[in-house]
Amino acid sequence: MQPLRLNLSRLKGKIIAIDGPSGSGKSTTARLLADRLGYFYLDTGAMYRALTLFAIEHDIPPLDGRALAAAAQRVPIEFHRDGEVNRVLLNGVDVSEKIRSVDVTQHVSEVSAHKEVREAMVARQRQLAKNGSVVAEGRDTTTVVFPEADMKIYLDASPRQRAQRRLLDMARMGISTTLEEQEADIKRRDEYDSQRQHSPLTKARDAYVVDTSTMTIEGQVDHIIQLIRSIFK
Ligand code: C5P
Repeated sequence: MQPLRLNLSRLKGKIIAIDGPSGSGKSTTARLLADRLGYFYLDTGAMYRALTLFAIEHDIPPLDGRALAAAAQRVPIEFHRDGEVNRVLLNGVDVSEKIRSVDVTQHVSEVSAHKEVREAMVARQRQLAKNGSVVAEGRDTTTVVFPEADMKIYLDASPRQRAQRRLLDMARMGISTTLEEQEADIKRRDEYDSQRQHSPLTKARDAYVVDTSTMTIEGQVDHIIQLIRSIFK
């Protein structure tokens, strides 16, 4: 089947924000969507993960909000596209694999719960998106980072389905884990992220909700392209 076509000149400079719980398929969807639109893919979760890795490597306790925020303001975090992979550089070093480790995943919610850490990160994210033509992905991008985004999408899927996807992702990276472990981790992170005091995971009122439980990744991207076509005619 031919991919759906878009009038790209109408779409120049826009910000499309994609939100949703972990494992809803938002990272892959955002990356593929950015490719189709010729946009920059801003993976905000990767930024929090990179900061968490920095904290682990520099013995900054996950509860020390001030030290973490100071690091969040100054540590160089960059993105580089390498074919299909969005490479993340921390201090110039490629940490794309390391930021997905179990250790980082276990601590990232705590690190990202601090108000001052979020403020520093949000400022950086807005700076990265200042020229538009961005697909921004992450759990507060539609509500806090880009409340004025040109289009907001909230992706959702059942916890079991999300765990299944995460298991496949981990297997691809050579990390061995079980479906039960992943489902428990997803539920734990959902609960923590939706109950935290600062920027909890919520649906923006004006977001398009897409339930991806029974969709393939290509199906999700096509569905969103259809939405974009109907909005930016
Ligand atoms: O999306 P990903 O699973 O890589 O995000 C890792 C973690 O970073 C999330 O579980 C969440 O705690 C945090 N995060 C956040 N705000 C964002 C993106 C991610 O708090 N915008």
